[in-house]
Amino acid sequence: MKIHEYQAKEILRKYGVATPRGHPCFSVDEAMEVAKKLGGKVWVVKAQIHAGGRGKGGGVKLARSPEEVKSHAGQILDMQLKTHQTGPEGQKVRRLLVEEGADIRKELYVGMVIDRSTQRVVLMASSEGGMDIEEVAAKTPEKIHKVTIDPAKGLADKDAEDIARKIGMPEKSVAQARDFLKALYRAFDDTDASLAEINPLILTGDEKVLALDAKMNFDDNALFRHPELVALRDLDEEDLAEVEASKYDLNYIQLDGNIGCLVNGAGLAMATMDIIKLYGGSPANFLDVGGGASTEKVTEAFKIMLRNPKLAAILVNIFGGIMKCDVIAQGVVAAAREVKLNVPLVVRLEGTNVEIGKKILADSGLPIISGNNMADAAQKVVAAARGK
Ligand code: GDP
Ligand code: MG
Repeated sequence: MKIHEYQAKEILRKYGVATPRGHPCFSVDEAMEVAKKLGGKVWVVKAQIHAGGRGKGGGVKLARSPEEVKSHAGQILDMQLKTHQTGPEGQKVRRLLVEEGADIRKELYVGMVIDRSTQRVVLMASSEGGMDIEEVAAKTPEKIHKVTIDPAKGLADKDAEDIARKIGMPEKSVAQARDFLKALYRAFDDTDASLAEINPLILTGDEKVLALDAKMNFDDNALFRHPELVALRDLDEEDLAEVEASKYDLNYIQLDGNIGCLVNGAGLAMATMDIIKLYGGSPANFLDVGGGASTEKVTEAFKIMLRNPKLAAILVNIFGGIMKCDVIAQGVVAAAREVKLNVPLVVRLEGTNVEIGKKILADSGLPIISGNNMADAAQKVVAAARGK
């Protein structure tokens, strides 16, 4: 699960991570009020969307008076902000963060992620902050320093100090940077985060270490023990179809092709997408209905896929192991009737009671195309999507 920058900063502050002072705003007038309350001479108005690269896209602006805060807020609020992470259609800005402006001497980078190979949290840091860290990693990997953190001990003082020096932290600020990194790790660990990224981490003119930007993602599988984090979820930032799917326990990810896939099991779902590609088609979604392909689940899955205006055909590829093929076939027929399916439907069943299942599909009176195996089903659905 993702959250907004201002929410991440609120969490981080509780753990002692230094950030600029600021408040979220939902209107232009509120933005000006917040600037006046914060005081000072320079403010920054920041679009709050779940994507990075806002600065380059015009979503982060400096202001030198509360009136200028107001005018920037007017430009940014409700804009369709396009960044390299939003896709070409952009994302509508519904919230702002107004902060006191910082006097930046240096922009650095720190991030924490879980490294699956070592099964530990890795702290990464670089002197090259502010810009695309992906580019730094690709072109000058020697500029990214790493520390693997022992979960039993946490981030050691020495490791934190060493990495602070490696990214060019002046000696005077090393202790501050150490405390910053240790606090960041405690926040990461306590919240079951999967990512915490501070880009840029800045050194100010008066040698303070501050998180100028903050991004946190959390492990969905651990959210059950963090109701306070679940409360921060912003559904406006999530794909509508994916939100709907999660209500029915469907693992759904929208893609940009035109062939809907309904599959049980993530591995089979991946293989199904691959074989569609192999035969020249393009999947409209990844969809794993899980172990229980009940009539209700299949019906909801059809409804979600049918919302996609690009959808040209559907492939149902189910292996009836725990579920029997006849039960699945009944579910597919009932679902197809209920949603009044208006695109070609190819079904490939395999497993227990497959012959009875196929007979149910054939006797249904619905124009269901039967696939004899995966390759046959994929070829048929690709042809159907092309209108052949
Ligand atoms: P992102 O583009 O979505 O990653 O948004 P950031 O929060 O990282 O902001 C982008 C850039 O805006 C930063 O790298 C800074 O250069 C600049 N910026 C953000 N806040 C301030 C500020 O308070 N003062 C100044 N001078 N620049 C800022
Ligand atoms: Mg940033």
